[in-house]
Amino acid sequence: MTTKVYCYHCMTYHRPESMRKIRTRTGERWRCIRSIEAAQSSTDVRDAFGERQSELNKARARAVQESALLGRRLAELTL
Ligand SMILES: [Zn+2]
Repeated sequence: MTTKVYCYHCMTYHRPESMRKIRTRTGERWRCIRSIEAAQSSTDVRDAFGERQSELNKARARAVQESALLGRRLAELTL
């Protein structure tokens, strides 16, 4: 018989060797390493996504500025 530890994240029981003790506001709790690592990698993905979004926004703003400049130049030429 193996004793299993309750994982507050998955709300299920895991083997104790795959668990890690986590200090939370409500006290010490057990959470499985797999869910901790999954949460960390999803944060990395989110950060990378946010960075790409802000790059995209910058590029878009630049393109709008350039096209406005081009439009002004074209208007001057046609006058
Ligand atoms: Zn778990």
